[in-house]
Formats: sequence, structure tokens, C-alpha cells
Amino acid sequence: MDKVKILEKYLPAQAAPLIARWIDYFKCEFKISRNRNSKFGDYRSPYGGKGHRISVNYDLNPYAFLVTTVHEFAHLHTWNEHKQKAKPHGTEWKNNFKKMMQPFFEKDIFPVDIKKAIVSYLDNPAASSCSDLNLYRALRKYDPPKASEAILTVEKIPLKALFKLKDGRVFRKDEKLRKRFKCTEIATRRIYLFSPVAEVELIEGATAA
Ligand SMILES: [Zn+2]
Repeated sequence: MDKVKILEKYLPAQAAPLIARWIDYFKCEFKISRNRNSKFGDYRSPYGGKGHRISVNYDLNPYAFLVTTVHEFAHLHTWNEHKQKAKPHGTEWKNNFKKMMQPFFEKDIFPVDIKKAIVSYLDNPAASSCSDLNLYRALRKYDPPKASEAILTVEKIPLKALFKLKDGRVFRKDEKLRKRFKCTEIATRRIYLFSPVAEVELIEGATAA
């Protein structure tokens, strides 16, 4: 099957031809990853005989998939231009991300709220990774309803509730500190700061004082 046809299954159809062209143009090994991890996508620069590699999670909604893909291609392009001299989410990356987002803006691919969130993300000099909260929330709204309801995040669970991470560690949700939640790891009594959108599994019926 050709690239465009495959990409159309994961991102907005109008965006597929350009992404397919980037894959060829940048000679990039592009993988749709089946691993479920906390990262939406990943870029690896050429190393040990391998070329550019990008992977993007298969289970993102089409808009999140496209934004993540452009994010990773901006890393690739920045690496081509500056190698290790540019910071991963520094000015050079940001300018490339902005530039590479333009063709999709021009095609009017994004709903208004996502476009707004991307624009304000790009205009915010402090923004860095793809985990920007406003952008993340705007993208999440377009997840299929069932999936997004099933996903619990730290901000959605009650105070003092116990929750589990994918690695099995158990925490108690404590108070909010500025933008993040203080959480105590039960086994070690250590305190960690969690992003409000960190995905967690609620331990049903359990609360701790
Ligand atoms: Zn990045």
C-alpha cells in the first residue's frame, strides 16, 4: 500500500500527501508505533549507520497525530540545519515548527479551537515540549468519546485518592501546587509533582488520610 493511503488512516486526509513527501524528501524512516508510552512521538537523529527516524503513536486522534508528526519533523529539520548545536525545543526548533505548520494552516485542516491552541503555543516563548497543557487539552477533545472518558488523569481523580501508574507504583493525590499536583508515593513516602494530565489508574474505593 502506498504511503499516502496508510497515512490517511491516521491523520487528516488532506495532510497525508505532504507528510508522505516529507518522508521521502528527508529520507526518514517513519514508523507508526504500537507502543503505548507517555510520549506522543519520537525523533532520533542519524546514528550508527541509521538515518533519521521518527515514530508516532498509532492511537492518537488525527489532529494530535498530525501535530506530533510536524513536531518531530521540525526536530529532524533542525538537526539537519544545526546538528547538536540547537537545543531540542529551542528557538531554531520553534521557528521550524512554525514554518512547517503553515501548509496545514493554509489548507484549513484544523478546527478553530485547535488552531488557536497551536498559534498561542507557538507564540509563547516558554512553551517547549508537546505536553503543553492547553494544546494537549484542545487536542484531547477530539479523541473518540469512549477512549477519552476511560482515560483518567491526576486532575480528574478526587483529592486523597490512591492511584497507580503503569509501572505499578502507588501514589496518593495531595494538594495542588501552582500548576501541578503534589503526590506521595505510598511505598517510599516520597513526594512527587505530577502534571494534571498525567494518566493514572484509580485504585477504586481507596483513599488515604
Ligand atoms: Zn520534541
